[in-house]
Amino acid sequence: MSHDTNKTADHAAPSNFLRGIIDADTQSGKYAARTDDKGQPLPVVITRFPPEPNGYLHIGHAKSICLNFGLARDYDGRCHLRFDDTNPAKEDQEYVDTIIDSVQWLGFNWQHNGQTHLHYASDYFDQLYAMAQWLIGAGYAYVDSQSAEQMAANRGNFSEPGTDSPFRARPAAESLDLLGRMKAGEFKDGEHILRAKIDMASPNMNMRDPAIYRIRHAHHHRTGDAWCIYPMYDYTHPISDALENITHSLCTLEFQDHRPFYDWILERLTEGGFFKQPLPQQYEFARLNLTYAITSKRKLLQLVEENIVDGWDDPRMPTIVGIRRRGFTPESIQLFAERIGVAKSDSWIDMSTLEGALRDDLDAKAPRTVAVLKPLKLMIDNFPLNESVACSAPVHPHHPERGVREFMISRELWIEEEDFMEEPGKGYFRLYPGNKVRLRYGYVIECTGCDKDASGKVIAVHCNYFADSKSGTEGSANYKVKGNIHWVSAAHAIEAEVRIYERLFSDPQPDAGGKDFKQGLNPHSKSVVKAYLEAGAENAQPDQKFQFERHGYFVADRIDSKAGTPVFNRIVTLKDSSGK
Ligand code: ATP
Ligand code: MG
Repeated sequence: MSHDTNKTADHAAPSNFLRGIIDADTQSGKYAARTDDKGQPLPVVITRFPPEPNGYLHIGHAKSICLNFGLARDYDGRCHLRFDDTNPAKEDQEYVDTIIDSVQWLGFNWQHNGQTHLHYASDYFDQLYAMAQWLIGAGYAYVDSQSAEQMAANRGNFSEPGTDSPFRARPAAESLDLLGRMKAGEFKDGEHILRAKIDMASPNMNMRDPAIYRIRHAHHHRTGDAWCIYPMYDYTHPISDALENITHSLCTLEFQDHRPFYDWILERLTEGGFFKQPLPQQYEFARLNLTYAITSKRKLLQLVEENIVDGWDDPRMPTIVGIRRRGFTPESIQLFAERIGVAKSDSWIDMSTLEGALRDDLDAKAPRTVAVLKPLKLMIDNFPLNESVACSAPVHPHHPERGVREFMISRELWIEEEDFMEEPGKGYFRLYPGNKVRLRYGYVIECTGCDKDASGKVIAVHCNYFADSKSGTEGSANYKVKGNIHWVSAAHAIEAEVRIYERLFSDPQPDAGGKDFKQGLNPHSKSVVKAYLEAGAENAQPDQKFQFERHGYFVADRIDSKAGTPVFNRIVTLKDSSGK
């Protein structure tokens, strides 16, 4: 079997109910006749990814990004990147920049037919305000002047209907005047609020006169101090979608109960002549829950602030900057997103699915090299002093066209500590006194003994080699050995720091059921070793990925690795050992 085939072909087509919906809309021609302001036909699929710039994106967002941008790509449509920046206190340009960078790194862009579709909800503040004024005039909104406590008390609960605000019947002119004065900065935060006038007895709490605008004297990272009232997310979102001609507005399941208000707002504003049918439609899909990870911005922030990890881009973090630094490729994330599909009910996806996608991507791409991570000296006592012999190995075992790499063998080598046992256990085929093994791509050797320090620790292993056993020569066929170990020549190897990462959590569901997620941390999630690498590794470019034979996939750290002093991160081992 070839290891290079695109593994998606091996899997059944991932299930994605949204494709069914889009196919039906395409067939019925629902969005076919639309044109933009210039009379140009609009694509029949326009999606958007709407992050709030209040934190770093994580693997859950990656699912939404791959979904939205992927559907747009597959249906010849477009996907907008829209910053949902209506909450000035928590938002920052730093987050805008990292989000743009992360989406681009994942392999997507927001250009379409020469136009750029990078949008900010804050660009619509004037329109959102004008629409709010219209809603008041039409009797669909009012300024409420109850205190926050009164408002909460009058909202009712799941079993009790709410109570109308005493300000609900306030004349439109009075509400309009108050809204103007709210905007002009005459009031303090919380003194008044603009609410939609829907139904205080609705079984859906989101329809009990939801807030539309609140007063917030806060500096906005884009509009500065121009505004001191800010529109609510549930009001801004449908309007931004409609202004951008979005067709399918995809969000996670917790927004299902918000959909009636989404539709209500757009229908009212269509009455007002602001929008035309067909309107954008909201669809909900299951958020990604990944085992051995957490995807709550608040909890991720806690890991950073309490120095449990070394920053947002710590290679153990499930942030996009973290998994990028860990060595995951954009292709592996896209492959992962395809494999998990999109469902309508929440479930857990196993971390091994993400790791498997990485292995499948890198197996085909990563050049092979050798690294000894826990070095033990091996002395070939009958090897000529001060001599070295060139050995060679394929850059990639399934791609002979990628050529061979050459490295030297000499009298002193580094091997892995675990490849020698003075008293072997049953089934141990590697080095022990009297046993023969092959030095991968080199010679067959026979172990003759070992040296120990005062504490009894083995500090060097001794052997003799068979000069006619070299791999690739005729004589090599005469030697049949069971063990095959890797090595590097001590005189030629490159010393390097290698960071061995494991999963950040040992609890598969660290924050399920309100658990304290810090109890589930894996105390061994990071260890740093001094390793010896095959010569050439010193030239690794930051971000360059390798398979260290027998060990797994590794990447030259994109921040700390420098020419001459490489630093590597272990991305993942060669095989999934989580089930063991
Ligand atoms: P917040 O609590 O700050 O709102 P959020 O995770 O919802 O956090 P947003 O920036 O609002 O962050 O998310 C942007 C988009 O990513 C939304 O459409 C949201 O539905 C989607 N998203 C967020 N988390 C996940 C997840 N775990 N799986 C799939 N999609 C997600
Ligand atoms: Mg959100």
